[in-house]
Amino acid sequence: MSVKPPEKVQPIQATEKFSFDCGPEVPCFTECCRALELVLTPYDALRLRHRLGLDSATFLERYAAIEGQPDEAFPLVYLSMLEDERQRCPFVGADGCAVYEDRPAACRAYPVGRGLRMTPCRSHLQELFVLVREEHCQGFAEPREITPEKWMADQELEPYNTFSEAMLPLLRHPIILQGWQPTPEQQQEYLHTLYQPEYFRQRVAGGEISPPAQTGIDRHNVAELDDYQLLLAAIKWLPTTWPGHKSDGRLDK
Ligand code: SF4
Ligand code: SF4
Repeated sequence: MSVKPPEKVQPIQATEKFSFDCGPEVPCFTECCRALELVLTPYDALRLRHRLGLDSATFLERYAAIEGQPDEAFPLVYLSMLEDERQRCPFVGADGCAVYEDRPAACRAYPVGRGLRMTPCRSHLQELFVLVREEHCQGFAEPREITPEKWMADQELEPYNTFSEAMLPLLRHPIILQGWQPTPEQQQEYLHTLYQPEYFRQRVAGGEISPPAQTGIDRHNVAELDDYQLLLAAIKWLPTTWPGHKSDGRLDK
């Protein structure tokens, strides 16, 4: 039995150079687009389903596998791989990625990993980078020198990062850090609100939900928001339904 060596993950500074390039010219082209545990963020899912012209329920049914994890408060939404021998990504073909302009953040960022850390006083976010060197990836043998900062810009990660930063107060919410376990209904609400925001729109428009003022959304303006603005509002609204919030949505200190 062959044992796969562990991938190497090394911290790297935002402006530190490394050799890397990727594209049809590398011998391992598309080798990484298979057998992935690729977690889709709500923004990834929205970009992909717009690209594919699907409503969110159809997108989730065709392309997502939703799984709870023991160390996560909420289920994760994975991109389903094909059930063929190579477990290929459903979007990979001989010419590369069929959804390239809307590929998920993880595909764009690879081999760079970007993490965000809230400063202890929770006043601002700190960016941390790592470089993931996997055995099959021959891009590191290419002569092009680049930095994590430049790589992220070249891969047009800015809107993805904006949404990741918007998600941070939710995912790193104080009650989650204290070990709060949402009920199955709250977990379902998380999936429904963030991965199917059109239902959030319907519920606000119909008066079933009255989001607090800080979300910037109400039943009168909800029809004017595009899906991305709606998702940002939904990300702000969801934690206001969790324990410890006052009726105006503020955290009860
Ligand atoms: S979405 Fe595109 S880049 Fe990402 S794994 Fe699939 S084919 Fe590869
Ligand atoms: S394995 Fe590395 S170099 Fe090869 S296609 Fe994937 S990211 Fe690019």
